[in-house]
Amino acid sequence: MQPFFAQRFAKVEPSFIREILKVAVNPEVISFAGGLPNPAFFPNEELAVASARVLQNKGNGALQYSATEGFAPLREYIAERYFQQHGMRVSPDNILITNGSQQALDLLGKVLVNEGDNLIIEEPGYLGAIQALSVYQPNFQGVALNDDGLDLNELDALLAQPDHARLLYGVTNFQNPTGLSYSRENRQAVADRLIKHNVLMIEDNPYGELRFEGEHLPPIAKLAPENVVLMGSFSKVVVPSFRLGWMLVPDWLRQKVTIAKQAADLHTNGFVQQVLHAYLQENNLDDHIDRIRTVYGRQKIAMEQALLKHCPGIDFTRPEGGMFLWLKLPQHIDAMALFNLAIKENVAFVPGQPFYVRPDILNTARLSYAGADEATIEEGISRLGRVIRQVL
Ligand code: PMP
Repeated sequence: MQPFFAQRFAKVEPSFIREILKVAVNPEVISFAGGLPNPAFFPNEELAVASARVLQNKGNGALQYSATEGFAPLREYIAERYFQQHGMRVSPDNILITNGSQQALDLLGKVLVNEGDNLIIEEPGYLGAIQALSVYQPNFQGVALNDDGLDLNELDALLAQPDHARLLYGVTNFQNPTGLSYSRENRQAVADRLIKHNVLMIEDNPYGELRFEGEHLPPIAKLAPENVVLMGSFSKVVVPSFRLGWMLVPDWLRQKVTIAKQAADLHTNGFVQQVLHAYLQENNLDDHIDRIRTVYGRQKIAMEQALLKHCPGIDFTRPEGGMFLWLKLPQHIDAMALFNLAIKENVAFVPGQPFYVRPDILNTARLSYAGADEATIEEGISRLGRVIRQVL
């Protein structure tokens, strides 16, 4: 067979992180590279009980084809949680369950992006979004992510152009890869611009509940509901293997996205949606999340302290939640070369370059503190400090 491929797939790259993770699986390696939630918090016994209950109570009804939009009680649960947490009055009709929030990115690309369309993305940005949206061949326009959120000067410059983007993608809480969050003022400023310039934001929020410091801030979706699709996920707060995410879509977009979902896979796994819902009925999600964020918070402090001790002079972000922090190395250090040395010292991280759409920034790195305990973090960062001293 002579291979042939659609043009739209010519430029889609394999996930760089997945390639890196292959190197980091050696048990000798302390890996801060993965973006995996800590499996110590997977509620396997509770999920076993919930699965049995669904099968017993619902019999074959639990196993039939079901609605494209998702399991109605689960959508109601999510809508109610937006009200409890943010005072948002959300109809369950506007919540569509997806196969992980990752699928929401694909569906939105399918429905909204033409080849060559400008698409604004925070920079550095989530690699999975760059990958999912690349399939639809947009022209990515990076806007720097600062300590308090999107760089408004850069955003305004892009929005001043006559053919400016209609779509903006960003992670407002504890961003992947930097751990940074948008401040209250920055959220309002972004919302104002969305409305003024008729732009739709894809507000991706898989980490928002994992706050261990500071106060919860309103999603931009609350400030500009017609101009935002707010994505959420159970991956980081319950389990990722269920592949359960959702999007809160404005009325004008709901039908088209539902059709795209129908065409893609008819519906998300109905049994798994019911098991998760049964789990949420029988257990207190807030207590569960408290346990996760307490531990992640401790591990983040351990990583900060180890960085100050072993990597003096290296700049890094101070996340208030989530799983990642971001190193800014001295200008002349190429993080990819550093990665190759670090692997020899049995410590791994993700070099920052693939997270940029303007790939000329080489001196950054993403570290996850979610998966390692405090002693392992101390040892891993001391190894990293040795490697950094070698190259300085
Ligand atoms: N968005 C961001 C910012 C993420 O970090 C991830 C997971 N790494 C996802 C979306 C996808 O999550 P899921 O499909 O598991 O819901």
